[in-house]
Amino acid sequence: MTSGQNTIEIVVIGNELLNGTTLDTNSHWISKRLVRLGAIVTRKTTVRDDLGEISEAFSAAIGRTPSWIFSLGGLGPTYDDMTLKGLSRAVKRPIQRNIRALKIIRESRERRVLSGAKLPMRITQATLKMADLPRGSIPLRNSVGTAPGVLTITGSAKVISLPGVPREMKAIFVEEVQRVMKRELPKFGKIEKWFRTSGITESAIAPYIGKLMKEYSPLIYIKSHPVGFKNRVSILEFQISATYRLDEELKSKKILSEATTELIAVSKKLGGKVDPIR
Ligand code: AMP
Ligand code: MG
Repeated sequence: MTSGQNTIEIVVIGNELLNGTTLDTNSHWISKRLVRLGAIVTRKTTVRDDLGEISEAFSAAIGRTPSWIFSLGGLGPTYDDMTLKGLSRAVKRPIQRNIRALKIIRESRERRVLSGAKLPMRITQATLKMADLPRGSIPLRNSVGTAPGVLTITGSAKVISLPGVPREMKAIFVEEVQRVMKRELPKFGKIEKWFRTSGITESAIAPYIGKLMKEYSPLIYIKSHPVGFKNRVSILEFQISATYRLDEELKSKKILSEATTELIAVSKKLGGKVDPIR
């Protein structure tokens, strides 16, 4: 189990994602950004719009003690949007109307009216539901839609719930979340080297990768990506990466170069042709 200061779990919610109706692009988008900020995404769980499933997914994630949990989807006004209810069960805090969330929703309404939208005179019950958060949660401004994001702190984890509409999820992450994470995540740098081989199979090189990983871990991570066969010749792409503390940048770059040189030498010894990628 991986837990720690920079570990993150993602809980993705929505029947449409499990039915094959909608491709889950949100977790891909957010994983990329989280990793760029120096975090390690340790698990992603996708569940249906079912209260029991949602609260179980949150409880299990919290139990693994990551420092952050992102939930994506299910914050809207309809009956099947029950992320916060599920979270409220998992953290054992009742749902309460949140005054700051209400203010964010009113502001979003004013923005829409100003831009010409025809809305009912009064805020509907369905809209008000989006201001009902687990007790003690903090709403996060949504500059392009209505449902606020929500920050809920529980034990060692900060849970950030974002809406499923990609444009809204991205806006809240970029405008409200990223800055805080940059400040709170330990500072790490990451470098990668890539090269491509033709003429060796993954099975042939597997023992050598294992040996190098042992020799260079935990600093270096080697991943082989089998691309397929071209004219019956096996093509592999290799990604060698190092995640390092900023004060160890020079040393880490040197070790990364060493590991890469060794891997290239082994590939050539096994009869492979080696080409740089990027
Ligand atoms: P929701 O409010 O969570 O039901 O999501 C609203 C809409 O956003 C859905 O109908 C989907 O079209 C889209 N959506 C939800 N989750 C995702 C996701 N993980 N990736 C891409 N689009 C999504
Ligand atoms: Mg949904």
